[in-house]
Amino acid sequence: MVLRRQREPLALADIAVPEPKAGEVLIRIEACAVCRTDLHIVDGELHEPKLPLVIGHQIVGIVEQGAGQFRPGDRVGVPWLGWTDGECRYCTTGRENLCIRARFTGYTIDGGYAEYCVADARYCFSLPDGYSAEEASPLLCAGFIGFRALRLAGDAQRIGFYGFGSSAQILVQVARAEGREVYAFTRDGDEEGQRFARAMGAGWAGGAGRRAPEELDAAIIFAPVGNLVIAALRNLAKGGVVVCAGIHMSDIPSFPYELLWGERSIRSVANLTRDDGRQFLERARRTRIQTRREVFPLEQANEALARLRAGEIVGTAVLRIAA
Ligand SMILES: [Zn+2]
Ligand SMILES: [Zn+2]
Repeated sequence: MVLRRQREPLALADIAVPEPKAGEVLIRIEACAVCRTDLHIVDGELHEPKLPLVIGHQIVGIVEQGAGQFRPGDRVGVPWLGWTDGECRYCTTGRENLCIRARFTGYTIDGGYAEYCVADARYCFSLPDGYSAEEASPLLCAGFIGFRALRLAGDAQRIGFYGFGSSAQILVQVARAEGREVYAFTRDGDEEGQRFARAMGAGWAGGAGRRAPEELDAAIIFAPVGNLVIAALRNLAKGGVVVCAGIHMSDIPSFPYELLWGERSIRSVANLTRDDGRQFLERARRTRIQTRREVFPLEQANEALARLRAGEIVGTAVLRIAA
């Protein structure tokens, strides 16, 4: 499925199998989970994608032509971070997620809404045993970047999750395994979403406008809605942090300084480092992550995106790809 121009639906097209360059693996794709970032690219909220473009950056597939540590027949995962220069002031200080020349899968490199892709082997991951391709695919962004957001929340005991979709359903299980309490906030009146959050392990769930039953030590904002930053600040204990986990968000309205006073802070999470990925997959090895998924065939990628845009996906949308 190809994005020819932003703000247009993806088009079904016959594309040549890409030729791997030195250091790249050729992958026959089995599944690609849908991320909200895919929507931001299609909808023109992220600028200057490669065009035409194959979107999708939560790729699981089988190596057909090996490189690096990967051999034909290995199952491999391809995340959002596709390449870094290794030499800028961010890369050389352990912050490759901020690399000034970084390239991103499904944005500036062709991604996974297709039958085949190539990927730089150094940025691919071996996946934990016991997960099917469809189960493993949401781990590759919803899991990785959500995990980075959770780490940036420090050792917070009580954490609020604003928006309970693909990333939150994974992170609630990691947070619970670490002995933390999760308070889930979904749209006011969204009882199905709140039931889902409780079923996945949230100790409390309610509407985003609600007061949390306890002061929160941290909040992670998964939904791309600037107002939620303020709603979260109102529930935050002194010294707490609001972590914005998305790549794009509507404007944050102005708010009284007293909401920030008391050493509260607001920060964003950008991309991932390969180390985040390795650490998260190690957790996923120890704690079997369950996800609720809605599976679509590749040709129905536009329907999957439309349902995500409308807030109709419970859990994660995953494209099943049969070459
Ligand atoms: Zn760099
Ligand atoms: Zn993503």
